[in-house]
Amino acid sequence: MEENHSDIINRLKKSKFRNSFSLKQKDFDYINRVGMDTIGRHCFDFVTKRLKDPSQFTDGKQTPFKGHPVFIAQHATATCCRGCLNKWHKIEKTHIKIQSAAT
Ligand SMILES: [Zn+2]
Repeated sequence: MEENHSDIINRLKKSKFRNSFSLKQKDFDYINRVGMDTIGRHCFDFVTKRLKDPSQFTDGKQTPFKGHPVFIAQHATATCCRGCLNKWHKIEKTHIKIQSAAT
């Protein structure tokens, strides 16, 4: 049976590891300072550069655990690496496609 987004979110909520990631005040301050459009562009860049090309990084270690709110969100949502995308979101490692950047 195929899971929908709600099923995945419910599973993520039960994960002690995934729930250990939360944004701190400095993350909210940064988001407020640069704006969500910029955060969205950063997110696109990180995912494009770190997850699209499997030869670029050692799988499972593409996403740092600190340094940007998007990194924290990626760990919390299991979108941090191709392995987690496969395990949690059932996206085959070979099927990760990146759409062109939103304008
Ligand atoms: Zn991961």
